Amino acid sequence: MNTENFLASERLVNAAYVRQGSQGRRAHELRLRALLEQGKCPEDGWDESTIELFLHELAIMDSNNFLGNCGVGEREGRVASGLVARRHYRLIHGIGRSGDISAVQPKAAGSSLLNKLTNSVALDIIKLAGVRTASSCFVVPMATGMSLTLCFLTLRHKRPKAKYIIWPRIDQKSCFKSMITAGFEPVVVENVLEGDELRTDLKAVEAKIQDLEADNILCVHSTTSCFAPRVPDRLEELAEICARYDIPHIVNNAYGVQSSKCMHLIQQGARRGRIDAFVQSLDKNFMVPVGGAIIAGFSDSFIQEISKMYPGRASASPSLDLLITLLTLGTKGYQQLLKERKEMFSYLSENVKKLAEAYNERLLETPHNPISLAMSLRELDKQSGTAVTQLGSMLFTRQVSGARVVPLGSQQTVSGYTFKGFMAHTNQYHCAYLNAASAIGMTKEDVDVFLKRLDKCLKALSKGKNDEKGSPALNEEVVSGMEKCNLVEEDDRK
Ligand SMILES: *Cc1c(COP(=O)(O)O)cnc(C)c1O
Repeated sequence: MNTENFLASERLVNAAYVRQGSQGRRAHELRLRALLEQGKCPEDGWDESTIELFLHELAIMDSNNFLGNCGVGEREGRVASGLVARRHYRLIHGIGRSGDISAVQPKAAGSSLLNKLTNSVALDIIKLAGVRTASSCFVVPMATGMSLTLCFLTLRHKRPKAKYIIWPRIDQKSCFKSMITAGFEPVVVENVLEGDELRTDLKAVEAKIQDLEADNILCVHSTTSCFAPRVPDRLEELAEICARYDIPHIVNNAYGVQSSKCMHLIQQGARRGRIDAFVQSLDKNFMVPVGGAIIAGFSDSFIQEISKMYPGRASASPSLDLLITLLTLGTKGYQQLLKERKEMFSYLSENVKKLAEAYNERLLETPHNPISLAMSLRELDKQSGTAVTQLGSMLFTRQVSGARVVPLGSQQTVSGYTFKGFMAHTNQYHCAYLNAASAIGMTKEDVDVFLKRLDKCLKALSKGKNDEKGSPALNEEVVSGMEKCNLVEEDDRK
């Protein structure tokens, strides 16, 4: 309602009441104005009525919602299902234009505004989370792997001779394939073992650069967030090497926004050396459905070049989900989630340590990994060749998701490259182990139930060992026995 409509209302309802109603509306609008003027995430989260008011206002600025619109083009934002229209708050035109995903769409002022605001609020959050000098970012409706591909393809034009990407090994398929899909040859640099930790081999990186020569190298592709016992790459030193040899540096920060340590590494890397772009997943960091990533960096022109590489228009859904989420949480809510995640990591570590010791195993010492941890499965591995994988399937059937069992000596071929010891980030780690992570949104109940179920599985497996020594078939019996009884025992959740 605008001023005229409020005045008209006064003919029907007492003017004093209408005035109060209009003041009520004004409070919502003041929030919208602050967002539009500052482009920052509000400190306090908005309630759903303000967010919905805002989204409706945006939607009616788009041509598909004009009352008098007469569309005679091939893309008029027509939607057959009302359910689909509502699922998107009637924002149907998507974002971008044929030439640039960040460009304004003349038919859709509301969607364009949504896009600009989301990118601006996302940048605010990235700065707040620790990369204070980030200058530019945008949301892409592709998950992390494809977004990394887009970064590599953008660099291709700047470095026509380049064929190789230097990549400190991390056993995760999408980041490996992101390089293959872009048409480059990954140069895998093995990690070095320091205590239990697997860390970047800086000397080997530098030797590879000298060997291949800078011009032939597209970039160094490093990683922050990863499964223990690998830890985030030595970003500062890698960034310095990149600056020294004038080689671009792309950082895979898949789930690193939720960790101040990962964000600090990126900030320090950019301060001391060279980082061209860093890429983070929307679902892993912001609790939204899978489908988007944020590409961020320190040079407006380079980030703009990447956004111009995107051919055509794009879905606005990931941007919409992110904006709704950040407006709902506010900076306070997001920071609270980050704080709780950190606390949950300590809680998880302490308790996995205790449990491990009860089974004569140990929590691997990986102090540089702020999100993921690993518990040795040395005893279990000694017991039989299959006990470790059995533990994996037992946890899976007991509905524990995300825990990852890593046996020794598994081998895997990804896009024609064979990795020895795949999953472990190294050819030969010193023991089999189990991973668990404390990621954003994890609750104490998740941890407690996980520990209970893990304890039960380990107990069942070790009982099998003591009762009937040397019977290799026994463990399978134990597993199927457990599967037959309640998969999810109710007391686990109490
Ligand atoms: C999740 C993740 C990726 C990317 O996976 P997408 O499915 O493309 O988002 C890449 N590297 C690491 C380390 C990851 O955790």
